Amino acid sequence: MVYQVVIIGGGVAGLTLGLKLARSNVETLVIEKQSRASHLYKGELLQPKSLSHFDRLEILPLILDNGYVLPEIEFIEMNRKNGRLIPQANNVFSYEILDPPYNYACMIDHEKLKSIILKEAQSFRTFHYMNQSKFLTFKDEQTALVETRGERQEIRGAIFVGAEGRGSRVAREMGVSYKEYAYNHQFLTVSFPRPPDLTKAEMFSWQNRFLGLFPLPDGRVRTVLLIKPGELKEMKKNGLSSFYDAYTDFLPSLEGYVDQIDSWNKIQLMIPFRHHASRYVKQNKVLIGDAAHTVHPMAGEGMNMAIQDADILGELLVYLIRGHNLTQKELQWYEEVRKPRAEFMMRLSHQAALFYSYPFDWFQKLRKKGIEKTGAFSHLHFKQMLNISGMGMLPFTIGDRLQQAGIPAPVNGKLKRSKKSYYFAQEEDYPWAYTRASGSGKKGKRQ
Ligand SMILES: Cc1cc2nc3c(=O)[nH]c(=O)nc-3n(C[C@H](O)[C@H](O)[C@H](O)COP(=O)(O)OP(=O)(O)OC[C@H]3O[C@@H](n4cnc5c(N)ncnc54)[C@H](O)[C@@H]3O)c2cc1C
Repeated sequence: MVYQVVIIGGGVAGLTLGLKLARSNVETLVIEKQSRASHLYKGELLQPKSLSHFDRLEILPLILDNGYVLPEIEFIEMNRKNGRLIPQANNVFSYEILDPPYNYACMIDHEKLKSIILKEAQSFRTFHYMNQSKFLTFKDEQTALVETRGERQEIRGAIFVGAEGRGSRVAREMGVSYKEYAYNHQFLTVSFPRPPDLTKAEMFSWQNRFLGLFPLPDGRVRTVLLIKPGELKEMKKNGLSSFYDAYTDFLPSLEGYVDQIDSWNKIQLMIPFRHHASRYVKQNKVLIGDAAHTVHPMAGEGMNMAIQDADILGELLVYLIRGHNLTQKELQWYEEVRKPRAEFMMRLSHQAALFYSYPFDWFQKLRKKGIEKTGAFSHLHFKQMLNISGMGMLPFTIGDRLQQAGIPAPVNGKLKRSKKSYYFAQEEDYPWAYTRASGSGKKGKRQ
């Protein structure tokens, strides 16, 4: 059989694309090397744009049933007095500043999300799934060599999608190079039962220390603790109590909860890293998700970018398969839409990371001011939430930055149009179905 699309990697990117294609009757094969769910922590925060995609895929109700809705994120700046950290300033960034219906985020276990997508995809006759199968290399343009439980086989396809995350073999075969960036900090991440009053997403910070708490369903909380490189080794020497102390220093009410983690094996070290592929498309091969880009996790965008890649590529492939040319030139539309958005998100996540990178008091004051002003001015608040939601892309201007720093801006940065008008329009998400009417500069439907 020659599959219309072969997706290598059954992570959230590959499965979302697989479901999207199978729903449109495209013969799709997903090849996944693992045999079962991973115990590793990965992205769990679904942003509004991703929720809108899952709504169109008709699995949003199931995701909400298994997830925890977050209407807002609270930022708490701490100060150390008499050896104790105490809250100094609270600010709330609310998704509710966006227009409904997608004006909230949702926390869901990564593997649960994948299992929902996979189960739904498997209800379509055109969806095929091979696990315990590792992509090795390409034999020729239309043939991939795959190893399944020690046996080698040839898989034929018209289009191959590299969705294998970081270290993509498909990218290597495409001759893709990466721009890379490493950070001066690391994270420890783990989930445990939460105190009953911990019902909101809370981000505590002091100097260059940070603890993020994101409620999950079933009375649990996913936590992220920023540490210095080498600090884990130090903590391990001092025993698990040093890990518990780092948490209870920020929030004493975590005592009795964080200490339910009884082994270092349950705590995952996360080394933030940013990379971006030089290209996403070559001939009949395309990259999506972490195979194309990874971002610093501070803004919680990596998984969302993967889902958004899958949406755009899925729409394009269905459009091309239904009677248009399936050429590299046409596939390039995907890169044209997604690459600038990925670059924007990478900058956004990078800036969020820099906010927590330096231990100086003046730096903390600047961060505190920036968060406070962003929450206080509705146009800044809207821009911030629009950008992280993935619903649109509205960069901060120099005037905005001055306002965030507490300097009266020479230009009034108020929004000039309705909020909805800043959302990505259909023509921006799926531009291949539209062309510029010659001379007018306006977009119109392609004939
Ligand atoms: C600790 C941690 C926390 C994170 N937190 C967040 C967050 O809060 N919010 C957020 O949005 N993002 C977060 N991310 C990032 C997010 O998890 C990733 O961006 C997302 O999982 C990328 O999805 P993907 O499908 O592209 O890649 P992956 O999830 O890496 O999936 C790739 C799949 O391909 C398979 N594979 C690899 N090689 C082969 C091969 N040769 N043959 C066959 N199969 C192969 C792998 O087994 C895997 O199943 C986090 C990541 C980590 C590690």
